[in-house]
Formats: sequence, structure tokens, C-alpha cells
Amino acid sequence: MTGIPENNNNHRRQRINRLKRMLISSIFVLMLIPNILCVAAFFRISGLDRQIRELTARLDGIAMAVSIETQGSSTDRYAGNGSGAIETSGDVIVVEQDEMLASQQGIAGTDDYEEVRKVCLTFDDGPSGNTDAILDILAQYGVKATFFVNGKPGYEAQYQRIVDEGHTLAMHSYSHRYQELYSDMDAFTEDFFEIQSFLMDTTGIQCRYYRFPGGSSNTVCNVNMQDCIDFLNEQDIVYFDWNVSSGDATRNYVSTSQIVNNVMMPVENNSWNTYVVLMHDAVGKETTVEALPIIIERLQAMDNLVIVPITDSVHTVQHVLPEEENAMED
Ligand code: ZN
Repeated sequence: MTGIPENNNNHRRQRINRLKRMLISSIFVLMLIPNILCVAAFFRISGLDRQIRELTARLDGIAMAVSIETQGSSTDRYAGNGSGAIETSGDVIVVEQDEMLASQQGIAGTDDYEEVRKVCLTFDDGPSGNTDAILDILAQYGVKATFFVNGKPGYEAQYQRIVDEGHTLAMHSYSHRYQELYSDMDAFTEDFFEIQSFLMDTTGIQCRYYRFPGGSSNTVCNVNMQDCIDFLNEQDIVYFDWNVSSGDATRNYVSTSQIVNNVMMPVENNSWNTYVVLMHDAVGKETTVEALPIIIERLQAMDNLVIVPITDSVHTVQHVLPEEENAMED
């Protein structure tokens, strides 16, 4: 008989203990919930804060680009169609690719495109034994460039490849021999018609962009450079200098890393809205070929920036050279 109340007591104790444990557990859970909510709220706020910072940075970038564009009009004159563009089928195709490239690189809509910085990679003095390697790299990265070429019979396949692969074929004189080319206006005009008709005969393209050997502010010209510019205007030709020099022709050997730095520094410093980069397609300039993939990869990794060939939608870069860069070309 004495075992029954003891059993009842044990049973009560167990129930009380169970209730105690439940109560403690409940209090613990109730205390934990606000902490979990706090941690969740912290991460959510951090995420929103990061988004705000990113959006603010993008807004600043756009505002800066618009500001530079407005201020930079004294040096970056817009070619537009005022000179009566020669609308060859080749040019039309290139302009379409220009727009297409922008959307391929993740920039939607034409409004955004106008605010995007443009980089034009330009290669002077070709074709050469390096042209095919340069074209292979450009094809590998889906990049279109501009080739300011001279007259070189024997390189017909390279001229044709430049055109077929959607790059802009442009003139850089037939002979590139300063003393002949710039001896007088007759020599200059004769050389101009020679390279223009040579490229037309070779590729069927009527080129409409020109780069003066040595640049438009060169110091080796015997004739008045303004006369040469007036002549090009009469021919509906737009001339381009450059505002970024790779420095690959400053001496016989320039290292790959130096070329990469020379190109990337002004672009990464956000200097302008349009970058026309001077490089050389010439034998002996192998480090230019080696630098090209590195330059393209770094440019393609940048936001709000596209690599485009020279077309009428690119602002012209003219007369912007520091004196020491005038003798840079070989
Ligand atoms: Zn040159």
C-alpha cells in the first residue's frame, strides 16, 4: 500500500520537471527569435547599403562622362555627316557592327550607348608579317579595330582579311616616306590618290579615314599642313590622330608591360570619353602583338566601355598631341 503515494509523488515530480524544461525551452526560443531577426536585418541592411553605394558610383561615373564630353568638345570634334559621308556598303556594315558590339557587351538601348566610353584600337604602317596574328587575336576576342595602312603589293590577302572580318580599313599614305610625301602639295595629293585607288582595286572599299604619317601636327612636313587638311576635306576624308599612344614605336624594343601600361593608364584614369589608341602593325613590333590580348581583356573587364572600330559615330581626335610625341612614328 505504501508504494502507491510514492509512485504518485515520482510521477508529479517528473511532470513538474517536464513542465520546467518546456518553460525554459520556450523562454530560450523566445529570446533567440529577436536575435535571429536582428542578424537577418543586419545582413539585409548591409546588402542594401552595398547596392546604394554601387548605384551612387555608377551615377557619379555617368555624370563625370557627361561632364567630360561637354568640356572636351574643343579637342574631340565630332565628325558627324557634315562632310558628306561616303556611304559605301562597307561603311554601313561597320556602323551596324558598332551598335551591335555595344549590346553584345551588356549595354542595352541606344540612350545608354551614348554614355558609354569608346576605345578605338588603331594599327599603323601595315600590313606586315604581324597582321595575321593581330587579326587572329581580334577575332578571338570578338573585337573590331582600325588599320591605317600603306601601299604594299604582296599583302592583298591581309587587306582583304581586314575588310572581310569587319575592321575599318583606313589610309596612312601609300609610301610613308616623309621626304617624298610632304615635299609639296602635288606629291601629297598624288600619294593620296595612289593609296585610295590601290585599296579600292585591292578590296573594293572606298576608304574615308586618313592618318597623316607622323600625325597632323608633325614637324617634318614641308607643305602647309592646313593645305593638306583642306585637301582631305574636299575629298570628304576625315583624318584621325590619336590621344593614347602605346609607345611601341618610341624605340626598337618596348616591353609588353610598358605597352600595356601606356594604353591602360589614361583609360583607367577616366581621362576622356573617346580613346584613339596608336599602335603599330609592323615587323619588329612583336611586343605589340603580345600586349594586345592583355589590353583587350583589361578593357573588356571595364564597365561602360566598348571597343569599336572608327566610324562616323566616333568623335574625331585631331591636333591633340604633345610635342614630344610627334616624332613617335617610324
Ligand atoms: Zn606610320
